Amino acid sequence: MKPPPDTYNPATTGQRVDQIDTPALVVDLDAMERNIQRMAEFARKHQVRWRPHAKMHKSAELALQMQAAGATGACVQKTAEAEALAAGGVNDIFISNEVVAPHKLLRVARLAALLAARGGRLAIAVDSPEGIQRLGEALAAARAAADVLIEIDVGQGRCGAAPGPETLALAQAVHGQPQMRFAGLHAYHGGAQHLRSARARREAIAGAVEAARRTRDLIAAAGIDVPLVTGAGTGTLVHEAASGVYGELQAGSFLFMDADYAANEREPAQPNFEHALFVKTQVISARATHAVCDAGHKSHAIDSGLPRVLAQDDRHALDYASGGDEHGILRARRPGGHLPALGQMLWLIPGHCDPSVNLHDVMVGVRGGLEGGAVERLLRVDARGALS
Ligand code: PLP
Ligand code: MN
Repeated sequence: MKPPPDTYNPATTGQRVDQIDTPALVVDLDAMERNIQRMAEFARKHQVRWRPHAKMHKSAELALQMQAAGATGACVQKTAEAEALAAGGVNDIFISNEVVAPHKLLRVARLAALLAARGGRLAIAVDSPEGIQRLGEALAAARAAADVLIEIDVGQGRCGAAPGPETLALAQAVHGQPQMRFAGLHAYHGGAQHLRSARARREAIAGAVEAARRTRDLIAAAGIDVPLVTGAGTGTLVHEAASGVYGELQAGSFLFMDADYAANEREPAQPNFEHALFVKTQVISARATHAVCDAGHKSHAIDSGLPRVLAQDDRHALDYASGGDEHGILRARRPGGHLPALGQMLWLIPGHCDPSVNLHDVMVGVRGGLEGGAVERLLRVDARGALS
């Protein structure tokens, strides 16, 4: 008996799209590259840098592809994600999150030394005096240096110091540490990204911009240069880009998009990002009232809602209902509407791209469209499961 493969690949390069096994996570490379171009153009127009969040795609190859298109580097959320990207050749990484465990901070410090030796750099966020002290100890132990940004809470109520004097004190503490370069403010408003109304998002970010501006000016008035304010996601980036305060955009989901972002009221100035991430699935049972496909909650995340089914027209519109972790139940949206036949291939748009990607070892990159295209490359999800 043959041993099981290290990685289960649903496709090989050169195959036609209809030969891709199911369920599989598929990237429409043409749509993805249009999204990259739109982002590059948008950033150029607004004279801001873009550092796409790799917590979404988790692929060193895609991080490097976006750098080749003008991105400054990559954001990650976790130490292990940073390690996975660095192993894949990414040299400029910002851990946009707090790390406080001493053993993990040693990994951060070693990575900072490694990236510096390669001519790159590591940056990390902090939001407490203890965090700064612990990071300083790890950097000293590894004889390394890092860029440090203070995370400020601009409205989400997650991590982050209070804008104003608390953040000034942290900036002064960083400024006084020999192994740290104070690199600015990390001011991401996660709570605003999926506010459905464009107006609600605009108002939320107006508050974030004000808090960031006020804090930046306070630190500058104390004689400490604030090189950068960084933040923004796909839902709000038009506002941060136009603010004159933010110098870098961290959006990640724009690359693939998902059903949750598609449900946002569109901001006219927002680039027209397209869906580029799909789950290919097959009908494994055709009943009189419904069809059943082979993609359940192990194929796509459901924290932001169930997937949408791509349909050629209204008559073929299907609603996806949960059939558990291995099945999806498909019903015609309209009475008398068409149900798919046994064996038919269908395309799902996941509700939330980031945790959907994290369920797969590989993404199948398709060139030439979902109808007649072919598999161009398999993209490894390098940081799959990199939670530590
Ligand atoms: N920056 C930070 C700190 C985040 O946590 C996230 C996503 O949650 C992003 C940027 C990217 O946001 P999005 O993928 O919604 O564009
Ligand atoms: Mn997300």
